[in-house]
Amino acid sequence: MNLEGKVAVVTGSSKGIGAAIALKLAQAGADVAVNYNRDQAGAEAVVRQIVDLGRKAKAYGADVAITEQVQGMFNAISEDFGKIDILVNNAGITRDTLLMRMKEDDWDKVIETNLKSMFLCTKAISKAMLKQRSGKIINITSVVGFIGNPGQANYAAAKAGVMGFTRTIAREFGSRGINVNAIAPGFIESQMTAELPDDVKETMFKSIPLGRFGKPEDVADLALFLASEKSDYITGQVFNVDGGMVM
Ligand code: NAP
Repeated sequence: MNLEGKVAVVTGSSKGIGAAIALKLAQAGADVAVNYNRDQAGAEAVVRQIVDLGRKAKAYGADVAITEQVQGMFNAISEDFGKIDILVNNAGITRDTLLMRMKEDDWDKVIETNLKSMFLCTKAISKAMLKQRSGKIINITSVVGFIGNPGQANYAAAKAGVMGFTRTIAREFGSRGINVNAIAPGFIESQMTAELPDDVKETMFKSIPLGRFGKPEDVADLALFLASEKSDYITGQVFNVDGGMVM
């Protein structure tokens, strides 16, 4: 799969799944805008790895849940790179607790970071991408959006929302040659899952037919396919990358 000449933006690519996707797209030839919120050092390290591959890359600090910051970031990216061909909406957070203990702020922060960010970032690139009449949008959701998970009412609601958003934008943008798909990872080893208690990890492990946790690269491999011309006739779909956890 060849992405030479393409420009990609990956939100939340200072670490974890986003960093793996940014690197995978760069390995295929894309130039990449790396977004981070707090971890500037992580983002700069990803940028260095991409530059070492001979591609162009730059880090942009912006909270994807805040309109002005998103707008500022995409204006800067358009100026620096000239266009955007691939948008990966990956940034996400968890604030897990049972509904009885969940604070309004836990709900709002998770919905804003995981779901509202999709609206803001997709809207920010939509005008140029529609004019360009080509593009790939890849939204990272979660299997939890399908099956729910105790302690994740906020996260599951956001991720289910991402699926509805994906299908709607696929319908709205389809006639302009823009593909919009989502990836639903299961349990992937990253900072997000490292924080889970051992008993929760053990229970999840037992529910994975392939007998191992996923790696960020497992998700990145599918993201590469969805970013490439090999997926030109696929849109509005949600693909699980979960070792068979949900079927
Ligand atoms: P992670 O290691 O915690 O990384 C999260 C990334 O999102 C970081 O780069 C972080 O940036 C960024 N981020 C968080 N809030 C942000 C904000 N407001 N604005 C901009 N960037 C922000 O998590 P991960 O496991 O790689 O998760 C990546 C995506 O996959 C998320 O959407 C997550 O919900 C989804 N997912 C993960 C799993 C899993 O098992 N790991 C399963 C299903 C779905 P900074 O560090 O710079 O703040």
